[in-house]
Amino acid sequence: MNTFFLEFYDPLFGIIIFFALIFVITFFSYWFAKFKKKEDYKHLDKFLKQFASLPSQNELKVLITKGELSEKSWLLLANAYTKSGNYEKSIEIYSELLKVGDKANYRDTMFLLGKTYFRAGFLERAKRIFLEILKNNPRTPQALNYLLLVYEQMKNYNMALEVLEPLSELDKDIDLESAYLNSLLILNSVGSSSDEKVYKLLEIYKRTNQLTYLIFEYIFRVNPKVAWENLDTSKAELLVDILWNSNKKDLNFDIIMQNGYLRELYSAKKYINESYKSSIFEFNILINLDSKVNATLGFEYICGDCKTVYPFAFSRCSSCHAIDTSRVELSIVKDYHKDFSEENNSFQ
Ligand SMILES: [Zn+2]
Repeated sequence: MNTFFLEFYDPLFGIIIFFALIFVITFFSYWFAKFKKKEDYKHLDKFLKQFASLPSQNELKVLITKGELSEKSWLLLANAYTKSGNYEKSIEIYSELLKVGDKANYRDTMFLLGKTYFRAGFLERAKRIFLEILKNNPRTPQALNYLLLVYEQMKNYNMALEVLEPLSELDKDIDLESAYLNSLLILNSVGSSSDEKVYKLLEIYKRTNQLTYLIFEYIFRVNPKVAWENLDTSKAELLVDILWNSNKKDLNFDIIMQNGYLRELYSAKKYINESYKSSIFEFNILINLDSKVNATLGFEYICGDCKTVYPFAFSRCSSCHAIDTSRVELSIVKDYHKDFSEENNSFQ
């Protein structure tokens, strides 16, 4: 045995063993590091996966019941879900909080749930929630405001008008809301003729001097002659898209010739040739453009209160719920209608 070991006393052999050991250690530490890195990635992937998919309803139930997060954190999370359009998750959170949450916040959570139902379009459920809040706390203006919006969306204008009564008792100014809901009631009444509707709408307009777009959009559609006779030309700017798209045969050129804005508008439209320039950039360009150029006015609608921009006209802003705040923004766009009619003519 001793003879066997003695043979390895050779110094060269020692050096070989030394390097062999270094190689083995380096090899193992390399593979160990690689394996560890892979494990780390796996762990990270697993961790991130939790956030890629939303918690199920049961998971949420367990998480909320455990009480590891404060109620305020859950409310913030639900609000973030609502803002990102994930109403289902925020509704689940609010519903669970109502079961296990602090009773002091019960009414606020109910209100937030009702608001989310409203935004998600579950109008019947939203109505039930707001009515429930008002049953115990009738003097809650926020719930009354939303109940009014729910009835309006449901086209139940009579019920919406009834909600105005308690709101006025809370010192809220309800004149514009009342005029707006009454106008909608008239516009949507099945039994009335268009003449009756025009007469009633004009009554509201003369009394309030508001809701110009809502009222005149209808009157210009069903009776342009009466619309021109009753139009306050100082408000023509609010109706620029309706006036621009009116048929030439329906225009009242006596009134147009008496108003600078209307003269410029119809000169830009090339119906008349009375203005050679305009302080409104878009009108000025169109007045000076050759009539053969395929250009026309484009319209966007901006809420004067919250500045949300819409591609369509509105009477109540769906973002801030303000009434009669729509303002028209002009732009110059390609006239596709002209393109289309020229194409059609070329086949004749
Ligand atoms: Zn708005």
